[in-house]
Amino acid sequence: MSGIGNAYSDEILHRARLSPLRRTDQLDAEEMERLFHATRETLSLWIDRLRGQAKSGFPENVTAFRQNMAVHGRFRMPCPDCGTPVQKVVYAENEMNYCPRCQTGGKLLADRSLSRLLHDDWPRNLEELEELQRRRNKSV
Ligand SMILES: [Zn+2]
Repeated sequence: MSGIGNAYSDEILHRARLSPLRRTDQLDAEEMERLFHATRETLSLWIDRLRGQAKSGFPENVTAFRQNMAVHGRFRMPCPDCGTPVQKVVYAENEMNYCPRCQTGGKLLADRSLSRLLHDDWPRNLEELEELQRRRNKSV
């Protein structure tokens, strides 16, 4: 996804329902097709939005900008499609945001900073995350 800003690549992968850690050479024909359409739709959506803002003369601030995004910059906020809290993964100095229900089949990608902190407690899927949160809420 090089050449496209980090924000848009998060949005494109969410729309394509693909994991942020997949490589393009691992995609099958159907997934490539999804990625292609998602790229085109996401970029034309944002071109329209930015044009609209330029016309109105009131450029939105960064917060409003991010509210329009599905997953980028929205760690822990609900996915607009399924309501699952958006997760993040740090990879090669990039922070990527994704929805585990829409994009990784419920699997949480290992976030280096978090997995170091939690060691064996690190949840491997959504059910374990929810269980961990339940246990935490009880102990507070
Ligand atoms: Zn989702």
